[in-house]
Amino acid sequence: MPDALAEAVSRRRTFAIISHPDAGKTTLTEKLLLFGGAIQLAGAVKAKKDHAQTRSDWMTIERERGISVVTSVMTFEYGDHVFNLLDTPGHEDFSDDTYRTLTAVDAAVMVIDAAKGIEPRTLKLFEVCRLRDIPILTFVNKMDRESRDPFEILDEVEEKLALDTAPVTWPIGRARTFCGTYHLADNAVRGTDADETVTKVNGPEADAVAGLLPESDREAFIEEAALAMEACRPFDPAAFREGSLTPVYFGSALRNYGVRDLIHALGLHAPAPRAQVADTRTVEATDAKMTAFVFKIQANMDPNHRDRMAFARVCSGKLTRGMKARLARTGKPMALSAPQFFFASQRQVVDTAYPGDVVGIPNHGTLRIGDTLTEGEALVFQGVPNFAPEILRRVRLQDAMKAKKLKEALQQMAEEGVVQLFLPEDGSPAIVGVVGALQLDVLKERLKVEYGLPVDFEPARFSVCRWITAEDGEEIERFMNAHRGDVARDLDGDPVFLASDGFSLNYEMERWRAVAMTAVKEYH
Ligand code: GDP
Repeated sequence: MPDALAEAVSRRRTFAIISHPDAGKTTLTEKLLLFGGAIQLAGAVKAKKDHAQTRSDWMTIERERGISVVTSVMTFEYGDHVFNLLDTPGHEDFSDDTYRTLTAVDAAVMVIDAAKGIEPRTLKLFEVCRLRDIPILTFVNKMDRESRDPFEILDEVEEKLALDTAPVTWPIGRARTFCGTYHLADNAVRGTDADETVTKVNGPEADAVAGLLPESDREAFIEEAALAMEACRPFDPAAFREGSLTPVYFGSALRNYGVRDLIHALGLHAPAPRAQVADTRTVEATDAKMTAFVFKIQANMDPNHRDRMAFARVCSGKLTRGMKARLARTGKPMALSAPQFFFASQRQVVDTAYPGDVVGIPNHGTLRIGDTLTEGEALVFQGVPNFAPEILRRVRLQDAMKAKKLKEALQQMAEEGVVQLFLPEDGSPAIVGVVGALQLDVLKERLKVEYGLPVDFEPARFSVCRWITAEDGEEIERFMNAHRGDVARDLDGDPVFLASDGFSLNYEMERWRAVAMTAVKEYH
């Protein structure tokens, strides 16, 4: 095992931030980048956010792809560590994109608004992390405002998420008097000076801690911090790593309190790039040969050239400019001649990516979501999910002469992951499926602008879609023959059953017990 590789792996921390809109994800991201020295990017996050408020603005901003390509991956250094922060779309209509991005991280930061507690989208994203055993650090934000009692917030996390909590820091003061954080286990206080020096003290009653508060608030704070130390669970790194306990940090992203506690914690406790499961073996990050998988595809900046950027997470070895890779799905070689590296330290140009890093690989449609790249080994990473669409539509062309062009365009959009495409076995027109309605708007807009194809959507007679598999291949044949008008194939040629509603789905499931009907498919 080459030492340089092991060292690079041990320094990497790849994570995402999950939260409900407005909890403070953008503000926290900016502060993390600011502290990590990537100041120019901090502005870009803001620009994206300001525009992303309305539907029409969102379309415009997506057309100006420069910003979103950059902000898909944000890399910064802090202390001894290299952090890769993977951005997830804010709007829940793009949740499948978010889920796939979460397959490429080793840890997540859950941001909670201190006044609101656990909100619906936090809960949903948390559940995805739990499915994948992704360890979670919790940041309770907006402590500078009127908020709930910290003990109450801890209780809510434990109850709603069935997750143990361990408060690592405690807020000094509340709302207007909030002025920093007290480290419960270390008995230390983080200063608000430029270096934010950490001072060890004898306890919360020390002058350097309680002395920060107006006299009237001191007693209450001392009692509360003592209670937290006595009654709350201590931080247990092993339980955190297996996903059953979350360390909790209080702060205010807006006022810079608690943010450094969080970066330190990510460096100290979040796992270095984890081993990844492939079909033939488990791949350790320190394995010498390069492996990577694609978790996201984004159309590139210039709509006249259908270039795409595939975002690949390196899982083992080193990915270097110009290296030859093997694309597992086709078995064909692929030269990585112009990979885009997002880690640009001030002193040097970088042309190597290590496990945990993400590279952008420009291509003309060769790469798809879920693809595996290796140095020659035939292995395929498991676990990038495809979710059954919740909205199914037929695409109606305004100009019927362009049917062939539409077919190509839909195929390309499906390869990019914008929509899912299903071709009915009875030869009737293609059906597109999406998880959120906004994805249909994006499809319509892009077909018009990029392909010159104005389209409308018509309701399909189906509202539910399930992948069908069976141990006995002939059973699938029999099922498909019996349902000619209600079966289709997806982009990979895998069969799906299209049902008019949940009732008829259940009915068929009862009748065809040897056929498994699933709402999630893993790319292969
Ligand atoms: P996002 O939707 O999760 O990305 O949230 P933003 O970062 O855009 O924050 C939503 C709003 O909350 C903005 O107006 C922020 O300025 C504000 N905000 C974020 N963090 C804090 C904080 O720590 N304290 C206060 N008072 N406001 C905050």
